[in-house]
Parts: sequence; C-alpha cells; structure tokens
Amino acid sequence: MPATPAWPPRSAPRLFVPGPLAEGAEVALDGQQAHYLAKVMRVAAGDAVVLCDDRTGEWTARVAAVSKRDVVLVAEARTRPREEVPDFTLCAALLKKPHFDLALEKATELGVRRIQPLVTRRCVADRLNPERARAIVTEAAEQCARTALPELAEAVKLDALLRDWPADRVLFFADETGGEPAASAFAAHAGPAALLIGPEGGFDDAERAAVRALPQARPISLGPRILRGETAAIAATALWMGVAGDWA
Ligand code: SAH
Repeated sequence: MPATPAWPPRSAPRLFVPGPLAEGAEVALDGQQAHYLAKVMRVAAGDAVVLCDDRTGEWTARVAAVSKRDVVLVAEARTRPREEVPDFTLCAALLKKPHFDLALEKATELGVRRIQPLVTRRCVADRLNPERARAIVTEAAEQCARTALPELAEAVKLDALLRDWPADRVLFFADETGGEPAASAFAAHAGPAALLIGPEGGFDDAERAAVRALPQARPISLGPRILRGETAAIAATALWMGVAGDWA
C-alpha cells in the first residue's frame, strides 16, 4: 500500500494571519497576502495552506474561494501549538537599511523572542519603518516555520534602555574593545538574556562607560576581528542559541 502522503504538503504556502484561528474559522485575505496566494503560489479551491496567528499556533487550512480581490480560506485542524521561544532579546543599534534588514531576518530565523532597535550617538540611520520591519520578520518567520513572531519593539535611545533595564535580565554587551569570551559568558548566565550590539561606528566612550556601569551588563568579546554590526548580531545570537538557547 502506498504511504499516505504527508498532509499538508511541505510545499504548502505558510502565512501569518490576524486570527484567532479555530476549527472551521473563515479567513478572508486581501492585498499582498491574496496576491501571494493567488498570483505567486497559484492556489485554487481545495488547496492546502498552513496558517499561523501568533496566538493559538499552526493550522492547516483549505482554500475555499479565489476571486480577483481576495482569497478565502477555512481553518481545519491545529497541527502545532504556538512554540515556546527562548527568552532572548536582541538590542541592536540601527544600521543602514539593508544591513539592519538582514539582522532582522536572521535574528528571526535564529529564534529570538524580542527585537529592540536602538538609537545611539553614532547611528547613521536613526529611524525604522515599523511596518517594513514587521513585514521582514513575518516573512522570515513564515520561511523558517516559526509559529511565534518575534516581538518588535519601538526604537528607543540607549540611555532610556539602560534606565529601565530589568534587574533579572543579563545584558551581554558586545564590546569590540574587549570582554569575556562570549561562549563562556553565555554558559555562565542561565535565564533571561539580551544582547547589545552597536552601530557601524561603534559606541562612544561615554556610552561604553554607561553600559559597563549597569550591574546587569556583561561585556563580551566576539573574537579578535571587528565584525560589522549585522555580523556581530547574527553570530552572537547563533552562539547564544547554541550555548543557552533551544539548539540543545
Ligand atoms: N567601533 C568599530 C566598529 C563597530 S562594529 C569601528 O568603527 O572600528 C559594530 C558593533 O559590533 C560593535 O559596536 C560591537 O557591538 C559589535 N562588535 C563587532 N566586533 C566585535 C568583537 N570582536 N567583539 C565584540 N563586539 C563586536
């Protein structure tokens, strides 16, 4: 007897929708999502789609109707609950657009819970378009089959971040002027964590002193080379996931 084909097929499109999803819930998509399903993926009535709502988890759904304006889907069965995401926040200074976009995408793939964009004195870019950033992380989450979106915080200034820093969260400070080797620092601090990465021009002396004065801050080194901000963010996030996150 031939094996039952896996359902939904691996190639089924994945989308985050507002939800909440439930058995039999009808989901009408328009705009870019309808365009993606109808024109790019060429779905037809009866086809399978995988939906996530960032609340209840992952569902299989079936296309009920495709029209010029919208695509209507019906959720059928929940296939996974919303995943537990490691408690790791990436606090990254804004970078020039393509570099920050890359950091957003890769941090999402690597499994961060929260992204906190920062404005520091040497930031070249000082603004982030929240809708665009949201679209990048959502697409990355769909691509890597996350069932939970990373939380995307509003950009804040470094001093505001430090002022309100919670007592129980370690802040690993990626400092190219020196610190504890990152892997051993990560291994030594279980629990809620965050990683601070500077902009293209790095932190100035006053900023570096302010971060180092925070009792929860742990300066770390990412090796002997000076990495670009996005490389530092991606490499250190991956290392944390391997040492203290959910790669076990
Ligand atoms: N100040 C540097 C460049 C900063 S690199 C210069 O202009 O020469 C951007 C950010 O990446 C830094 O602020 C730091 O947070 C991180 N980073 C880069 N290389 C690093 C390393 N070897 N160790 C720790 N952090 C590093």
